[in-house]
Amino acid sequence: MIKFCKLCNYCKKYTCSDQIFDLFECEHCGHDISACEPIPVDESELPAFLNQQMRIREEREKPEEQISVYILKDCNGEGEIRIPDEGGCIGRNEIGKELLTDRHISKQQVKISINTKRNKVFVEDVSTYNTTLLNGKLMIPGREGRNELKEDDILQLYNRKFQFVIRTHE
Ligand SMILES: [Zn+2]
Repeated sequence: MIKFCKLCNYCKKYTCSDQIFDLFECEHCGHDISACEPIPVDESELPAFLNQQMRIREEREKPEEQISVYILKDCNGEGEIRIPDEGGCIGRNEIGKELLTDRHISKQQVKISINTKRNKVFVEDVSTYNTTLLNGKLMIPGREGRNELKEDDILQLYNRKFQFVIRTHE
């Protein structure tokens, strides 16, 4: 037996019946579907058809995954350091070495860790001799001084100030 299904263009669900003329109102939301094109589906294939349509709908409604890119932007406009997705060390010998050439900056001065699941970024001072300031405050070196890095925070390595910027795109 053939059933006829109409797609409600309001709630995007199907209403099916063996009589085309029965199909004037969406059984899910009550929207008028009399003008919609009926799709003939064999009754035995109806569950599979509806299942497949539901999956297509879910796929479409899935929110786009946002990708965050973390940047340390030089406050004097002298460039920026892009922090890799897996985080890493920033310093004279590490990430950002093109900008951090001053001897007063450690080879490894700060460590950035990124928790992608929680969308959180942490900064830790890992240098022995040189100081790091977070929003003007001296950071305590090591794990105990680990801080969450929030958007627009200012991280200062020696005399270089960087603004923490998050760029998101889909
Ligand atoms: Zn509907």
